Amino acid sequence: MKKKYLKILAPALAVLLIFATIVFLNKIKQPESSSSLPEEASQNESQESEQSLAESSQEQAQTSTSAPTKPTAGKTELENSQGPQDTQSKGYYYNYPGVNPSPAKTEAGKWYLLLVNFDYCLPKGYSFEKTTLGGTSLDARVAPHFKQMQAAAASEGLKIVPLSGYRSLEAQERLFNQTVNEYKNQGFDEKTSVAKASKRRQPPGCSEHNAGLAMDVCEIRKNFENTAEFKWLMENAAQYGFILRYPADKVEITGVQYEPWHWRYVGEQDARKIMAQGLCLEEYLAL
Ligand SMILES: [Zn+2]
Repeated sequence: MKKKYLKILAPALAVLLIFATIVFLNKIKQPESSSSLPEEASQNESQESEQSLAESSQEQAQTSTSAPTKPTAGKTELENSQGPQDTQSKGYYYNYPGVNPSPAKTEAGKWYLLLVNFDYCLPKGYSFEKTTLGGTSLDARVAPHFKQMQAAAASEGLKIVPLSGYRSLEAQERLFNQTVNEYKNQGFDEKTSVAKASKRRQPPGCSEHNAGLAMDVCEIRKNFENTAEFKWLMENAAQYGFILRYPADKVEITGVQYEPWHWRYVGEQDARKIMAQGLCLEEYLAL
């Protein structure tokens, strides 16, 4: 009896053993094949924006385009708008020569202190609820504060008009490319055109408008600083958590021209300190 069983079992066991070996080998192979990481794009070029900051105040005021909030159809905005040569390993999604920001640091508790500028862009998957305000929108956590500020100004007969708040990455990319192309059409090479464009406009993901944390108000021109609305904002905006983000005397630090119309939400506590001490956000966060 025993021998008969062995005769039947032996081939079956042999087949099982071979099958198990194949499965085992495949499992070992998988991590090997995935360990060959894609080559990181060469990003050793130094940032050009710094050396050209001094010129930035001479640049024309940027015109602001408000883009409507788009539904993201299950994907995050960033996934929808990856550039052709994705440099995900660095957290940046576009391939502009000389533009090499790091992903912005997002602490869950301090979302309102998010620093986005030429050095830090929105990290992958950064998404937030939006609330419509006039023809534009803001991060839903910021919008109530803006409305309160508007109401307070209105009670003193002043109108804080929301012109441009949230702007999609796609819209920012279009605007940035337009500016780059202006310089290319003047005969500058790609890298020089990007460097010049960066003085007037943030690359996609590097604008506070992409984060829904800032609002351009009333009028996009320097003369706005001579209005009663601007004077009121300088005195009162901090009570509602807003700061003048690009002051005239901080151009060399922010890399952005003086923008009296651009107001950024950072929360009341921090806004009061920043405005009282006459700092820009970069200086405040470095303290
Ligand atoms: Zn702005």
